[in-house]
Amino acid sequence: MAIISSDKENEKTKSKENSRENIAPCETDYDRCFENSIRPKTFNEYIGQSQLKETLKISLDASKQRQESLDHLLLYGPPGLGKTTLAGVIANEMGVNVKITSAPALERPRDLIGILMTVKTGEVLFIDEIHRLNKVAEEILYPAMEDFSIDRTTGKGQSTKTLRVPIPKFTLIGATTKAGALSGPLRDRFGIIHRLEFYNNDELSFVIKRTASIIAAKITEDGASTIASRSRGTPRIANRLLKRVRDYATVKADGIITKDIAIKSLDLLKVDHQGLDTTDRDLMKLIIEKYDGGPVGIDTLCAALGEDIRTIEDVYEPFLLQMGFIQRTPRGRKVSPAGYKHLGCKISSSQQNLF
Ligand code: ADP
Repeated sequence: MAIISSDKENEKTKSKENSRENIAPCETDYDRCFENSIRPKTFNEYIGQSQLKETLKISLDASKQRQESLDHLLLYGPPGLGKTTLAGVIANEMGVNVKITSAPALERPRDLIGILMTVKTGEVLFIDEIHRLNKVAEEILYPAMEDFSIDRTTGKGQSTKTLRVPIPKFTLIGATTKAGALSGPLRDRFGIIHRLEFYNNDELSFVIKRTASIIAAKITEDGASTIASRSRGTPRIANRLLKRVRDYATVKADGIITKDIAIKSLDLLKVDHQGLDTTDRDLMKLIIEKYDGGPVGIDTLCAALGEDIRTIEDVYEPFLLQMGFIQRTPRGRKVSPAGYKHLGCKISSSQQNLF
């Protein structure tokens, strides 16, 4: 699995990651190494997302039988649900290599052209955060995706010529947290478009037990399901919490992760029984206490919380919306009655009339 990114992009990624805590994607190189070491490699190891796997298996078998490359695939959904992992699984099942990059690393046309010129027949090119591709890069991708060719310009001034250069047939897998932010022409060039769903507790328990066996952590059945229930339906968070609970079990107990140890450790981390962390609760409390439950604009919320919009929109909001704790309205975000109940807050009489 080749990972391509520029130094500039690494810097940007690091500063972005540093602004995220607890539930955020990979924070450090160590986290990244850990993630790579536990990534499933086959469909059998890839837990959950059964409908998506079923559809993909059929497409994969069909393209293998026809000896063609798989159709371009767009995966969307919140971070940590397994988009990058799935790209690796698909490449592995196809018996081909995967090149991994992200849209912000493809700032200059030559970044993308360089990758497309070296891609081999059948290979998978994975572009993360594909909604952030700039217009020039998108224009380069269109003929690459459609006709497996790229337009190269030679010469200068009046003698400029455009040559259409063929490239090998490859599969582009694009991943995004915001399918709606993709331009129409780019979205239309994907043959398969799929949304990744949040995982249920049983699936997350499997993820946790699988990871525990890889990292040789001892865990009981109810220890795994306790961590699962607080993992916001997200494997990345489940694995992250497992590591923290394992540390707690090592220091405070005999190393075995039981239900009791998991509860004590997660309470200490301030991850509540529904998986909400301090930032989630601060966000909801802010709306309730300062804006009478909302609606309030996302910019105002982010300024008050000191978080960037992307972190709130991509990392925190999807789960709060899924749980029904907040609502998105044209005039901004509101806390729902379920959100009030979860925080133990009383709904004001003015809000009561609005629900
Ligand atoms: P995304 O690309 O959607 O942000 P990743 O593919 O990087 O998410 O997944 C994050 C981590 O979660 C990976 O290290 C992987 O081990 C784990 N993971 C994700 N999906 C699954 C799955 N279906 N089964 C088991 N582990 C998974």
